[in-house]
Amino acid sequence: MEKNTGRRVFAVIGGGAAGFFAAVNAARLHPDLDVIILEKSDKLLSKVRVSGGGRCNVTHACFDNRILVKNYPRGERELQQAFSRFSTGDTISWLHERGVELKTEEDGRMFPVTDDSQTIVDCLLAEADRYNVQILCKASVHEIIPENDQWKITFEGAMPALIADKVLIATGGGRNESAFSYLKNTKHTIIHPVPSLFTFNIKNKALTSLMGVSVSDAKVIIPAAKTETQGPLLITHWGMSGPAVLKASSIAARDLEKLQYRFDVQINWLGSGNAESMFEELNEIRKSEAQHKCDRSPFEGISRRLWEYFIGKSDMNADLRWGDTSNKHLRKLAEVLTRDVYIVEGKTTFKEEFVTCGGVSRKEIDFSTMESKLHKGLFFAGEVIDIDAVTGGFNFQNAWTTGWLVAVSV
Ligand SMILES: Cc1cc2nc3c(=O)[nH]c(=O)nc-3n(C[C@H](O)[C@H](O)[C@H](O)COP(=O)(O)OP(=O)(O)OC[C@H]3O[C@@H](n4cnc5c(N)ncnc54)[C@H](O)[C@@H]3O)c2cc1C
Repeated sequence: MEKNTGRRVFAVIGGGAAGFFAAVNAARLHPDLDVIILEKSDKLLSKVRVSGGGRCNVTHACFDNRILVKNYPRGERELQQAFSRFSTGDTISWLHERGVELKTEEDGRMFPVTDDSQTIVDCLLAEADRYNVQILCKASVHEIIPENDQWKITFEGAMPALIADKVLIATGGGRNESAFSYLKNTKHTIIHPVPSLFTFNIKNKALTSLMGVSVSDAKVIIPAAKTETQGPLLITHWGMSGPAVLKASSIAARDLEKLQYRFDVQINWLGSGNAESMFEELNEIRKSEAQHKCDRSPFEGISRRLWEYFIGKSDMNADLRWGDTSNKHLRKLAEVLTRDVYIVEGKTTFKEEFVTCGGVSRKEIDFSTMESKLHKGLFFAGEVIDIDAVTGGFNFQNAWTTGWLVAVSV
């Protein structure tokens, strides 16, 4: 497949969000380039399709880049520079100019108004068609080799090699170092990849029997990883999930791998206060509610089922009147509400957004162009780089931003 059109060839390896965004914009901005996407599977934009539960959480309604970058446990500093060139507002405008409108949910996540990820897929496919981006599926890149100021791209199987003037690596995350073996000739450093954004497995029947119960503002503390997060928490049939848990898994991704996903997690179900201040608060309730039974939560946002679980865990009885509770009862209840400890034994990524922490070292990339500092004509975008974020549309924003910078500078 040697190309000899006399035109410059820009090969994009990976037909995901970053690869497509870079390819369609490069083809539009540089009509002199032949742009070709090389995708190893027979599916294009497969993660965009399944993302956000099939709705695609495209980006986040955060328009201050100094706040935006705080959502990236890896890449905060480098993205500050990248977002100054293309950020969330630019994503919204880019899609708007192509007839795709987004809406913002209460928590800031942005989705297409159609609530259908296919809208984003169709938009990117239409742009590729409009600007004559060539697409080759079942093209699994085996190696890229620098050769006379160009790149020789070889494939798994019998497919002949391709010569390109510029190459973008947009192959997404990988489970282990061997997933990046096609880069070995480039001598780029791969930061050990580990999973990020997972839920916690907790073998505790009393807890998991509450599956489906959630609180809107819990504090999740992992002492062994010195990590503390806050936000909604969901009890599942295998343990705990929800934004506060996913965020903790992201911030502590590396430490939790070292702990082999066995660690203690401490939950403050009310999101604030400590055992001492909570005891004082319960003491006040004991006085003011003396004649009432303890069977209902005096705190907002705690369901009856969850409250009964707390009462049982504190050796109390729901028929007990507040006025008849002992200090021992209230101290135990205060402890359960603010410092409830569980043993996590493993992780689950079932149905959740999951990403890779690790990948191509950020130090070896010039973030004004996304070009390799080791080789001219070699670019990186998206999750293949050692950049990842918490949930909320931030991971796609990284793909759009870095893909855009490549398109401009290529
Ligand atoms: C279930 C799920 C839901 C998600 N939901 C959201 C969400 O709602 N919002 C959000 O911001 N993020 C979400 N994410 C994260 C987001 O999907 C990724 O961060 C994003 O897709 C990364 O884009 P990318 O283009 O860098 O990589 P990818 O989308 O992974 O694309 C990489 C492509 O490269 C191809 N490839 C790999 N190796 C080769 C090779 N050797 N040769 C040729 N092709 C190759 C792959 O087949 C793939 O198509 C979700 C992730 C998952 C798993």
